[in-house]
Amino acid sequence: MCAASWTPSSTRSNPRNHVSADERDDGPTALPWLPLLPWQLEATRSALAQRATWPHALLVHGRRGIGKHALALNFAQALLCETPRPDGLACGECPSCRYAIAGQHPDLIRLELLEPDATDGALTEVDTIAIDRVRTLTESVQLTSHRGRAKVAVIAPADRMNVAAANALLKTLEEPPADTFLILVTEQPGRVPATILSRCRQFAAPLPSADDARAWLARTGVAAPELVLAQAAGAPLAALALADPDVQSERRAWLTALSRPAQLSVAALAGRIEAGGRDERKARLARALDWLIAWSADIARVRAGDAARQNPDAAEALTRLAPQVAPIPLFRYHRLLLAQRALLAHPLQPRLVVEAALIDYKALF
Ligand SMILES: [Zn+2]
Repeated sequence: MCAASWTPSSTRSNPRNHVSADERDDGPTALPWLPLLPWQLEATRSALAQRATWPHALLVHGRRGIGKHALALNFAQALLCETPRPDGLACGECPSCRYAIAGQHPDLIRLELLEPDATDGALTEVDTIAIDRVRTLTESVQLTSHRGRAKVAVIAPADRMNVAAANALLKTLEEPPADTFLILVTEQPGRVPATILSRCRQFAAPLPSADDARAWLARTGVAAPELVLAQAAGAPLAALALADPDVQSERRAWLTALSRPAQLSVAALAGRIEAGGRDERKARLARALDWLIAWSADIARVRAGDAARQNPDAAEALTRLAPQVAPIPLFRYHRLLLAQRALLAHPLQPRLVVEAALIDYKALF
């Protein structure tokens, strides 16, 4: 999940207002806070009821776009809260809570893909969580907690630590200082080194029911929650990102081209990836791969006699295409796309990736 992809109301109201003037500085821009989502309330309460035996290392895992990162941050807030509520949730009012929400808690260390730039402090997106940041974390947890509660580190996504960074974290995982809690987040536990996985207690982030997801999207202002939820296979935050009209018109263009494999121009479609800067190209590539993955999965479903799940608005084209594809090459193609999507973190040539995927797509027919 991209932390900057949605703006929760609590960060819109300028959380810096809660911080007194002498503690304010003009240093790096604070990382945005992500409030707890409605479908996470019960799971969060029952997890925090076990606070006395809270593990030193917790791995929050689950599909993309369901709010794992928000969950991890709210666990951290609750562990640092100075006056937790009787049900274990953070009070939201104490100094610790206010600092955490403002992105300025001295005992909350956040290693994320948004990182303050070394020169101007502006938040920039990085590909990996590098060893120097993990070293800063491991040194920091050796120090006494500033506010006397605990030290909490959130690493999201944990699968974006490179090997050296993961190794640097091991010692802290093996011999954690007292009152130190690590919360790791991943949608791909298989890409987290086994040495790290084996030292974490696993926590499956809850999924909302379809009704809850629809209601939340509608409250967030999405006009047709049903359609974007289908496209995101039920993941609400992913659905919210798809609800952008520009993204929907981009999707339309892709589906129109995929509906006519014989006429599909690889160069023209792959060229759509090129717009914008580096982050924008990466986002376009991610969406294109998601659409190809959903499209090939729907062809397989329709071929097996089921209804299209993620592209219900393209049922006619899918019904026409499904009998033209042999199941085994289709399955292989789908797996290849999934592997490509998992590699997205690493430096690559977006256009070449898409061209290869489209050439293979045309060859299916
Ligand atoms: Zn509090």
